[in-house]
Amino acid sequence: MTTPYPHLLEPLDLGYTTLRNRVIMGSMHTGLEDRSRHFPELAAYFAERARGGVGLMVTGGFSPNMTGWLLPFGSVLSTHRVARKHVQITDAVHAEGGKIALQILHAGRYGYHPMIGSASKIKSPITPFRPRALTTREVRSTVDDYARCAELAREAGYDGVEVMGSEGYLVNQFLAERTNRRTDEYGGTAANRRRFPVEVVRAIRQRVGPDFIVVYRISLLDLVEGGQSWDEVVALAQELEAAGVTLFNTGIGWHEARVPTIITSVPRGAFTWVTAKLRAAVTVPVAASNRINTPDLAEDLLARGDADLVSMARPLLADPDFVAKAQQGRSDEINTCIACNQACLDHTFVNQRASCLLNPRACRETELVLLPVPRTRSKKVAVVGAGPAGLACAVSLAGRGHQVDLFEASDRIGGQFTMAARVPGKAEFHETLRYYRRRLEVTGVTVHLSTPATRQRLREAEYDDVVVATGVVPRVPDIDGVDHPKAVSYVDVLRGVVEVGERVAVVGAGGIGFDVSRFLVDDGADDLESWLRHWGVTDPAEARAGLGDRKPATPPRSVQLLQRKTSRVGAGLGKTSGWAHRAELRDAGVVMTPGVTYHRIDDDGLHISIGDDPAVQTLDVDHVVLCAGQESERSLADALAADGLTVHVIGGADVAVELDAKRAIKQGTELAARL
Ligand code: NAP
Ligand code: SF4
Repeated sequence: MTTPYPHLLEPLDLGYTTLRNRVIMGSMHTGLEDRSRHFPELAAYFAERARGGVGLMVTGGFSPNMTGWLLPFGSVLSTHRVARKHVQITDAVHAEGGKIALQILHAGRYGYHPMIGSASKIKSPITPFRPRALTTREVRSTVDDYARCAELAREAGYDGVEVMGSEGYLVNQFLAERTNRRTDEYGGTAANRRRFPVEVVRAIRQRVGPDFIVVYRISLLDLVEGGQSWDEVVALAQELEAAGVTLFNTGIGWHEARVPTIITSVPRGAFTWVTAKLRAAVTVPVAASNRINTPDLAEDLLARGDADLVSMARPLLADPDFVAKAQQGRSDEINTCIACNQACLDHTFVNQRASCLLNPRACRETELVLLPVPRTRSKKVAVVGAGPAGLACAVSLAGRGHQVDLFEASDRIGGQFTMAARVPGKAEFHETLRYYRRRLEVTGVTVHLSTPATRQRLREAEYDDVVVATGVVPRVPDIDGVDHPKAVSYVDVLRGVVEVGERVAVVGAGGIGFDVSRFLVDDGADDLESWLRHWGVTDPAEARAGLGDRKPATPPRSVQLLQRKTSRVGAGLGKTSGWAHRAELRDAGVVMTPGVTYHRIDDDGLHISIGDDPAVQTLDVDHVVLCAGQESERSLADALAADGLTVHVIGGADVAVELDAKRAIKQGTELAARL
C-alpha cells in the first residue's frame, strides 16, 4: 500500500519488541493518575488511543516515592498493591494492540507540598515551598526507589518506563549548576552532577532486565540561566546510553523558563533541529517533540533524519484517531491540536482534570458518550449558527445518526474562530475550520450558508428540536463619542475593514484585547529564525542552556492596552500562556494600564483618567479599538420558545460572559449526546 507517511508508519524493531509505528504519545498528567478509583477512566482514555493506532503511549508522571509527589497524595507507584491496580490500564491497552510505558517523575522542588526534597535547598521561582537538600543516603535510596518503581511497572504489565529527565524536575535539578550546589559525589563537576540520572538508569536496567523499554526524556535546551551546556548534554546522553536507555525522548525548557515552548505562537516543529543534534551523538533512537501536530510535519522531520520517532501528547488528546486517520488516507479528518493549552495544561496546573478544548470527550471517555441512534429514533434537528458551539453540536448529532440542517447567516462557517485565525500566532485555527468543514461532509450535515434561519422557516419545517447557537455581538461600551470615526470594533480591525493608524488605544484587555494588540504590533515575520531571535533561543553549543540575547523586532505601531479593573492587566489569561502573551506585548512596547476611566473619544483621541487621580489626560491616538466583551444574540431563541418549539440555546447565545470556545464546544457536544 502506498502512503504519504512511509517514515511515520514504519515499525520500529527494538530487538525484543516492535513498535507498530513511529508515534509516541508523550506523557501528560491528566489528573486521573492521582487516585486509583479513577483508573477505569484512565484505562478507557488510553484504550481509545491504543485503538487509534499509537505506537507507544507514556502515562502521566508517577513518583517513585512520597518526597517526589507533585501534589499531596499525588500519583505514586511504590507498592505491589498499587501495581495490581495498574493492571486494568495495561490490559485495556494491550487488548487494543497498543503498548504503554509508565513515566517515573520525581518532582523535586516542583512539588506542591511541604515534604519536597531536591539536590540543594534552593526554592523554585514558580512554587511556594522551599525544598530540603537530600542527604547522600537519601539520594542513593531515591535511585533504588526509581528501580523499584520500574520493577513494579513491569509487574503491572507495562511495556516500559520513561524516566522524566527534563522540564526542570528532580533529575534536571541534579544536572544543572543552577540548582545543584552539592559537595558530595552528586555535585560539583558535570560528571558528578550526572551521576544521579546515570545511576537511576543503570539501576532500572539491572532490575527490569534487557527486554523492557527504558525511555529517557532528556532536556536538550534547559532555557534557564545556569542550565546545562551542550557538551554536558551529550556526555549525559552517551553515559545514559551505556547505562541501558532504549530510546531518548526530547524535553525542551524547564517549567520556570521564560521562553514559550509549546503554545500556539511557537512555530510548528520549532525544536527538531536540536533533536537532530542529539541524534548525531548517540546510537539509540531519538524522538522529537514540541509543536508537532500534523502527520505531514512528522513525516517531513523523520524523512529529513531529524529524529527516529515523534512524540505528541496534546494532538492525541485532541484526536485519539490521529494515527489511524493518517494510515487510512483520512488525515484531512484529523482534529488538529491548536496548542491553546486551555483545557489541558491550564486545567492540570489548577488541579482540575485535563481535557481538550476541541475534544471535550478527552479524559471523559466513559462519561461523554456519543452513542449511535437507531434509524427509527433519528430526529430532525435544526442547528442555527455555525460558530464553535453550533458546529460541535451539528457534527456530533449527525455523527450519532440524527438528520441535521445547519443554518449560517454569513457565507462561511466558523463564527468567532474565523477572526481568531487572523491573529498572528493563531493560524492553527484554520485547521479547526478545515476539520469542521470536512466533518460536516463526512457526517452528512446539510449546510445552509448565507441563510438566516427565520422563525417562520423553522416552524414550517417541523423540526423535532431546534438548537440556537447564534453566538454573540460585540458590546459597544457606553463612552461619550463611541460613534466617532476613530472608534472601531475589533471585528473590523481583524477583518481588515479598517486601515488602523500608527497610534492606537485598545479598550478592554480580555483575550480579544490581547489578541488585537498582538495583531496591531505584528511585524509580519512568522518564520522560525525570527521567532528564535525574538526569544533568544540559540544553538546550545554556542550559549549555555540554549539561552542567548532576546532581540524582539521593532513594532509597526504604538499601542496602549486599557482596562477599568485595577487588577494586573492580563490576570485572567491562561495560566500556562498568559505570561508569554504579556511578555510579547511588553517586548513590542505595548503600555498596559489598569484602573482606567474612559471619558470621551473625539478628534484629539481618547480622554481618560487613571486610578484615583481625577486629572483627565488625552491619549493622542489615530484609532480606539473597542474590545469590550460581547453580549448574547438570542432574539431568535426567545421568539421560537414563544412559538412552542423545543429550543436549546448553547454557546455565546446562552451566556456571553467570558465566552470561550472551550465552553461552547463542550456545551454543543454534551447537548448532542443527550438528544
Ligand atoms: P472578555 O474576556 O470578557 O473581556 C472584555 C474586556 O472588556 C475586559 O477587559 C473588560 O475589562 C472590558 N469591558 C467589559 N465591559 C466594558 C465596558 N462596558 N466598557 C469598557 N470596557 C469593558 O471578552 P473578550 O476579550 O471579548 O474575550 C471573549 C472570550 O474569548 C473570553 O472568554 C476570552 O477568554 C476568549 N478568548 C481567549 C483567548 C485566549 O488567548 N485564551 C483569546 C481571545 C479570546 P474592564 O471591565 O476591566 O474594563
Ligand atoms: Fe491542544 Fe488546546 Fe486541546 Fe490542549 S486544549 S489538547 S492545547 S487543542
